[in-house]
Amino acid sequence: MSKIIATRAIRGAHKLVARAEKELDQAIKEKGPQTKVEFPNTGYFLPISHGILGLNIENLEGLKNLLEEAKKLLPPIPDEKLWLPYLGHTLDAGMATLFADEIIEAIKYTLNPIPYLTEPNPTDEQLWLGAANDVILRERGIEFVDGTAPGFAACVGYCPTNDIAVKIARELQEKNLYVFISAATDGKSMAQQLREEGIQMGWETRLVPYGDDVTATVHSLGFATRVALSFGGAQPGDFQRVLRYNKNRVFAFVLALGPVDDEKHAQAAGAINYGFPTISETDIDQILPTGICTYEHVVSPIALDKIVPKAIEVRGLKITITKVPVPVPYGPAFQGERVRKEDMYVEMAGQTQPGFEYLTTKKLDEVEDGKIELIGPDIDEVEEGSKIPLAIWVEVAGREMQPDFEPIMERYIHDFINCANGIFHMGQRDINWARISKEAKAKGFKFKHFGSILHAKLHGEFGKIFDKVQIKIYTREKEVHELIDVVRKVYLERDARIADLTDEAVDTFYSCTLCQSFAPNHVCIITPERSGLCGSYNWLDGKAAHRINPTGPNQPVKKGKVIEPVKGQWQEVNEFVYNSSHKTLEMFNAYSIIEHPMTSCGCFECISCVLPSTNGVMIVYRDYTGMTPVGMKFSTMAGTVGGGVQTPGFIGHSKQYIGSNKFISAEGGFKRIVWMDKELKEEMGPVLQELGKKIRIENFVDMIADETVATTEEEVLEFITKKNHPALSMPPLF
Ligand code: SF4
Repeated sequence: MSKIIATRAIRGAHKLVARAEKELDQAIKEKGPQTKVEFPNTGYFLPISHGILGLNIENLEGLKNLLEEAKKLLPPIPDEKLWLPYLGHTLDAGMATLFADEIIEAIKYTLNPIPYLTEPNPTDEQLWLGAANDVILRERGIEFVDGTAPGFAACVGYCPTNDIAVKIARELQEKNLYVFISAATDGKSMAQQLREEGIQMGWETRLVPYGDDVTATVHSLGFATRVALSFGGAQPGDFQRVLRYNKNRVFAFVLALGPVDDEKHAQAAGAINYGFPTISETDIDQILPTGICTYEHVVSPIALDKIVPKAIEVRGLKITITKVPVPVPYGPAFQGERVRKEDMYVEMAGQTQPGFEYLTTKKLDEVEDGKIELIGPDIDEVEEGSKIPLAIWVEVAGREMQPDFEPIMERYIHDFINCANGIFHMGQRDINWARISKEAKAKGFKFKHFGSILHAKLHGEFGKIFDKVQIKIYTREKEVHELIDVVRKVYLERDARIADLTDEAVDTFYSCTLCQSFAPNHVCIITPERSGLCGSYNWLDGKAAHRINPTGPNQPVKKGKVIEPVKGQWQEVNEFVYNSSHKTLEMFNAYSIIEHPMTSCGCFECISCVLPSTNGVMIVYRDYTGMTPVGMKFSTMAGTVGGGVQTPGFIGHSKQYIGSNKFISAEGGFKRIVWMDKELKEEMGPVLQELGKKIRIENFVDMIADETVATTEEEVLEFITKKNHPALSMPPLF
């Protein structure tokens, strides 16, 4: 706790209490102690003294009681030599300031003419509005409760230029915040700057000019107090509830623009009592430790082009964007929509072009919320029918953000993009695939709109855990290739986190029904040894996703009684799958490809299928476009196995599952693998080699055929026979 800032706040409080005393004495002398004092048309008396102290002040005499309370709270000005670090003194000085402010402002209402308008909007003659009446409170206060307006920015002082004042006001309005303006400095105030620029002010535009006096700042806190009394169930005098309600429910902060004198320091101290931090452009002492406010209390110096995002971060305000800003209709109704080849303008990533989707965490000061960059050609610059790369790189920052949440949020890219009419999206990680229709392009859809969707929807869905998000869209092969190895390394690291956990060691699995948007009866059951089919959710991810969204698509599933330990069947898992598959699937075996296997949606990384004459299985990765020994290409097989149905002899699964001890363990496990496409075989080679060593086969990978040696089942059989593949000596599959 800084001595300088406390000294200035306490000194400011002393000055304001002295001023209140002087003006009150004079008013009583001139008008008499029984002169009525009130703010216009309110049942809340003078709201600070009513809400905090339970006083019902109705005349000048009554203000004396408030003055006494202010004096009682005034701490001594800190000694130059002996300083006791104590936030409490500063808070007391802040509250004394608010009492003094309220006395000074109340006296203004005894003047003739009153220096404020009683209308909700300024006129050409009068800019300042003073205290809001109860009609405004009812109309506007409810917005603080229902979330239409998350809070307010109390702007004190002025900006270096009118343009900056307009920019800050607009930024705050865009965040749905009210802007309460007070406290001119050297006769200059932000409200006057906005007026000079012809900006419409008043309660209707949420730009509220309270008054040019520093004491008019109290109307912001008076309004907050009345919201707590009116909507928060706080009783007059129950100061704890008034203050706590504001800290927890009203996302307000003070923006100190320009020089900050002692009196403004004192206002900041008053606001801290309500949990409202101050963000200052000028270099004043900071109060960084948390305590009364959610995060820091006073932060400075912050450049004016960064002051709004900084205030939002420090106050812990969560942004909600109600409308996704894209030129095509957007909503869940379009989630299952396909874009057929003949309707397609451009195809991105998929089997023929590189691509990936990646979400990572950065520091707060490294992310500019809402920044969207396109690296590579835009849709107008590519020919109709083109196939181009697509990488989506998302950076989020937030005090509650944890790396564990990255895969979960990343997987939602698929869901969010799919809700745009005319945009089709499939896959995740480095197997993403998108199509944009001719119609969407004609309506003005640009590649940057992927970013607009993600900015809006990530805030909407995960706003509680992060504060800012920026997005880069890559559509040029060079950059996509450069970055793909970086993200693949991270995918591997994420998968490795779960390496030693077994299914037997846990009593709970996690479901995933995210893919029900296009495979309505599909349920992934994610176990420690079998990740989701798409490869982007492992058991730890399912657990973290449930923590983020307890009512979302990832639910804990108790295993219950073991029905089939080898095939992987449990009573409560069956019950869960039955209910979640809309009563279409009565049982499934987690580790079998033959008997009641898990259903497949369409997002699987790989397909395994039985090659009967070889007594083994083949595995094909989704990027492999050639013919496979089963007589089908991947795309044809995907049509057969996908859609949320059980297809004995076929399963969709992640790459990671191939290296699991539970990989078709009901049928003997990895020893059944007789064919893989070459690229997948090479990628999984080290894992398979290790598994082979465990059964004393040194060269297991060499025993597996690929497309360079076999593209028919007969050729596979011939190859594995030569290699003396272990599948040949295993029990028959059927
Ligand atoms: S494939 Fe499974 S784990 Fe992956 S998103 Fe779809 S339902 Fe969830």
